[in-house]
Amino acid sequence: TSGAEALARLVVDVPDYPEPGVVFKDVTPLLADPAGLRAVVAALADAGRRDGEVVVDAVVGMEARGFLFGTPVALELGVGFVPVRKAGKLPRETHSRSYALEYGEATLQIHRDALAPGARVLLVDDVLATGGTVEATRELVTACGAEAVGVAVLMELSFLHGRARLGDLPLTALLTL
Ligand code: 5GP
Repeated sequence: TSGAEALARLVVDVPDYPEPGVVFKDVTPLLADPAGLRAVVAALADAGRRDGEVVVDAVVGMEARGFLFGTPVALELGVGFVPVRKAGKLPRETHSRSYALEYGEATLQIHRDALAPGARVLLVDDVLATGGTVEATRELVTACGAEAVGVAVLMELSFLHGRARLGDLPLTALLTL
């Protein structure tokens, strides 16, 4: 099973969720499929290697589905996992970044001491949509004195132009829609 094949077979389109006009990509059947899950985790982890060598010091995953894929990617690369969470969930001192949603605003946080200064970080999430989540997460990594060196996602929704907000940050998308 290849990562892209698993995604095509195991991610389900849900029309009009969470609101009318949106087609939500439901990854829960993929998580439930052992071969599919293994294939996508292996493919995402390749974004953290160059010429077969691991080139990142940590994986950062965004709440909530970034946790589900980022943690096994970190294990596969032999590095640690750092969560970026929605406001108010992390118990110790944090950095915060707010960004605009279609309606309203979201705030993401990271523990101030979560990353070593200079650490090279791979960001992992399930879907790149408008890019606001990745952009805010990259700023949080920078605020810690570390550096995002890549972002790996299962799916890029190219009609939302998230790639344009990533600047020079290399994007690995297993499937572009
Ligand atoms: P963005 O900030 O790029 O607009 O949105 C990306 C975030 O929203 C990601 O954390 C992702 O989990 C979530 N997201 C947006 N659209 C979808 C979707 O269709 N399916 C899933 N599974 N997540 C989505």
